[in-house]
Amino acid sequence: MQRRSLLQSSAAAGLLGLAGCASRAVPSRAQVVVIGGGYGGATAARYVRLFSNHKIDVVLIEPDAAFVSCPMSNLVLGGSWQMADITTPYDALRRRHGITVVRDRASAIDTARKTVTLAGGAAIAYDKLVVSPGVEFIYGAIEGLPAAHAAGQILHAWKAGPETAALRRQLQAMPEGGVYAITIPEAPYRCPPGPYERACQVAWYFKQAKPRSKVLILDANPDVTSKAALFKAAWAGPYRGMVEYRPQYNTTAVDARAGLIKFEVQDDVRADVINVLPPMRAGAIAVQAGLSNQANRHWCGVNYQTFESTAAKDVFVLGDSIQIAPLMPKSGHMANSQAKVAAAAIVAQLAGWPVNPAPLLTNTCYSFVDDRRAVHVASVHAYNAAEQTYLSVPGSGGLSERPSEREGAYAFSWARNIWADTLA
Ligand SMILES: Cc1cc2nc3c(=O)[nH]c(=O)nc-3n(C[C@H](O)[C@H](O)[C@H](O)COP(=O)(O)OP(=O)(O)OC[C@H]3O[C@@H](n4cnc5c(N)ncnc54)[C@H](O)[C@@H]3O)c2cc1C
Repeated sequence: MQRRSLLQSSAAAGLLGLAGCASRAVPSRAQVVVIGGGYGGATAARYVRLFSNHKIDVVLIEPDAAFVSCPMSNLVLGGSWQMADITTPYDALRRRHGITVVRDRASAIDTARKTVTLAGGAAIAYDKLVVSPGVEFIYGAIEGLPAAHAAGQILHAWKAGPETAALRRQLQAMPEGGVYAITIPEAPYRCPPGPYERACQVAWYFKQAKPRSKVLILDANPDVTSKAALFKAAWAGPYRGMVEYRPQYNTTAVDARAGLIKFEVQDDVRADVINVLPPMRAGAIAVQAGLSNQANRHWCGVNYQTFESTAAKDVFVLGDSIQIAPLMPKSGHMANSQAKVAAAAIVAQLAGWPVNPAPLLTNTCYSFVDDRRAVHVASVHAYNAAEQTYLSVPGSGGLSERPSEREGAYAFSWARNIWADTLA
């Protein structure tokens, strides 16, 4: 299935719940507040406006001036794309959809009074609240990381933005023959294949600019967590002798001055550029508001039919912050898909319409192995009312046989289409 039709079919899945409801009108005074203008939040804001015929007011709270996409950001590290290529302003949400975009950070949620307080001090009332703040990085889980990260010595670049550009500069400044090491936390973390794609992008850059350099992948997991055979083929093929993969390397400490990474079991590893992906949990505002009620308070439980929080009524949590259903990745495509289901449920609830009993979610994750060739994994997830979770639709998924330029072209189109579906 082409990317555009996948995105459209998941929008249609959300709309199904609104069919046949023309007799009762969408209220014109309701207000939906959205925290976070990323893949989940911006899509939800746009689709609440679309599904309500622009009748429901939407306020989107986001501290960043523009949307900077994590998907495709590894290409910036490889040097084939620039920061401008992954950056989109919020203008269309304001101008074309009438969404009020507030450039601030939500600092508190009062679920009893149904208000959100901004860091700037103002409070905004909501009828329904969408919370999609991405992930919070648990720097303190790794000794030495809080100071090394604050000093800009050891970066994650796992939220695209200034850190992406800074990590690219570190790679450019690294001497020929040097070592770049990326550490991966135990799953679940944001974007399972992302670290392995990044290793390929850095190796692609080294092959051209510093061919005696090395890429070390230090993974806390027992094996590559996504598209394993495809990534391993790239490391044994075009990147043979340059990329080394080490499973079950659980990072416990870093020493930025000595360039050392320390592990639970193995000997220390020295590297010139250290790229640490810290353990992650739900975005800080979700944790602070008491929404992270799953997995040792790391992730937010939701009713999967609507994405309404199991901790607070009229609050909907999306994207990387949620406790995932089986086989559901923490991905931008998934956040976009969830957002349409939640937007349809919100509009239906506000209008007194029945909520779609059988929503569908789709996901496709592309990974580039060089500047043009990509691989993908795809899946479709159907809500199962009896089990109150999503189950993969048998036979619906797919996995590339090998990297190809054709899939690279699909991946470039996927990015353009999902940015349009989220922001245009
Ligand atoms: C390197 C990399 C590559 C990736 N590649 C892919 C890919 O190819 N395909 C794919 O589908 N996914 C990919 N992902 C995963 C994808 O980026 C995430 O899954 C997706 O961004 C999750 O959406 P979200 O809405 O939960 O969070 P985000 O998109 O991160 O959005 C969260 C937003 O909330 C804002 N925010 C946080 N706290 C507050 C607050 N208190 N008040 C207001 N706003 C706040 C943030 O500024 C941010 O804009 C990749 C991720 C990385 C790091």
